[in-house]
Amino acid sequence: DVSVSVKGKNGYKYRRIDYPKYTGPKEKATFVTLARNSDLYSLVESIKAVEDRFNHKFQYDWVFLNDAEFSDEFKNVTSNLISGKTKYGVVPHEHWSFPPWIDQDKAAKVRDEMREKKIIYGDSISYRHMCRFESGFFYRHPLLDEYDWYWRVEPDIKLHCDIDYDIFKFMADNGKKYGFTISIHEYMDTIPTLWDTTKEFLKLHPEFLNKNSMLDFVSDDEGESYNSCHFWSNFEIASLNFWRGPAYTAYFDFLDKNGGFFYERWGDAPVHSIAAALFLDRNEIHHFGDLGYFHAPFHQCPLDESLRLQNKCACDPKHDFTWNAFSCGVKYYNVNHLKKPKGWEALV
Ligand code: GDP
Ligand code: MN
Repeated sequence: DVSVSVKGKNGYKYRRIDYPKYTGPKEKATFVTLARNSDLYSLVESIKAVEDRFNHKFQYDWVFLNDAEFSDEFKNVTSNLISGKTKYGVVPHEHWSFPPWIDQDKAAKVRDEMREKKIIYGDSISYRHMCRFESGFFYRHPLLDEYDWYWRVEPDIKLHCDIDYDIFKFMADNGKKYGFTISIHEYMDTIPTLWDTTKEFLKLHPEFLNKNSMLDFVSDDEGESYNSCHFWSNFEIASLNFWRGPAYTAYFDFLDKNGGFFYERWGDAPVHSIAAALFLDRNEIHHFGDLGYFHAPFHQCPLDESLRLQNKCACDPKHDFTWNAFSCGVKYYNVNHLKKPKGWEALV
């Protein structure tokens, strides 16, 4: 334990963790945001939070991607807020359109049915392009070629706590490949055949299943069925090389050929999560329980008071979704034999 007892303002004592001070070169890392021009003023809040809480100390770059050209206003406003270099790219048409093997009529019928059933984003074409792009293409954009790591940021998020360590170095130095803040159950109506398709893939490619996988996070019956647990992908800090590697490349191609991004409404969150759970060693996945994060409608807020005081968290721990019954946080801590923080039971 590297913590020391310190006196805060008011004489209030708390435990301070001495984060390792890293020296040497930065990681090859960038923030990445997919956004429309119309997202600009929801996005500036996210950018300002990330800069104030973290990035002004490290000056990592920021890559913006869009299915249309970014406006000058978008570029001026965002580049002015960001301490690192900023880059703006357009998504290639093949990465944001129906691939030729998709039956358009069948896809349209599904959207009508999902509209009737009031499935969230069920009738949306653009949301499906977004999910497919975030699943299989963002890391292939040439603007990301020079990087090994990314942190995905969306509009309207909050960071509740200061981050005083280089989070990308943390990933690299600790052998981590995928980091998340919030986990949650998926609406199974959006992915009815995703797991069966995954099982077909594993039959063809049993070599990709990691010997120390986190299968027990995504399945309660040793792989027979999916329990719908996934990492919420609006926040991700992860290795680009994991997605670029042979296992995920083959997996995404298999899913894409199946058509479920259009014939159902497969989300990038369950797709990424299932891949991380199956193809990575469980020790390569990390829960960032110390950051404090918000994406509507859920908060992550550390229960540990010392952590909150030290990191100047501005959140109510009673709102920490991690231990909520609709979250998969308890399962994550249980299957990995991690110690849950004091007071978690009260939030279930
Ligand atoms: P939700 O979090 O699932 O409700 O979905 P969001 O509306 O936040 O979309 C997820 C991410 O994709 C956000 O970063 C959006 O800015 C981005 N996004 C969603 N739809 C589009 C789109 O049609 N075009 C572009 N360029 N970005 C999009
Ligand atoms: Mn969002």
